[in-house]
Amino acid sequence: MENNSDIYRARHQLPARQVVGPILINSGFRNEDVNRHVGGVRNSQHLLGHAADIRPRDPQQFQRLVDFLKAHNLTDQLLTARSGWLHISWNPFGNPRHDVRIGYYK
Ligand SMILES: [Zn+2]
Repeated sequence: MENNSDIYRARHQLPARQVVGPILINSGFRNEDVNRHVGGVRNSQHLLGHAADIRPRDPQQFQRLVDFLKAHNLTDQLLTARSGWLHISWNPFGNPRHDVRIGYYK
């Protein structure tokens, strides 16, 4: 798993793939340089490996994936971007916040 534990989780612990088919992962763990380069917030959960930016391979499954993740009890934060990517995070240290914001981040 190494530094890619986030991607491991996104790939293996999100049963969403069974609902919407293959899921593409754009960004998982980021070190500070990469995070700064992509304009990530300073306290990004990507820095901890607790977030991933994903989208269904089939764009027509987008809303179904959003609905699934909103209902998923492990979802800490779910932000959708106009670009069609979903930022999904989990909190291994405490209770998930279930913070869902549609059309929030760039
Ligand atoms: Zn993200």
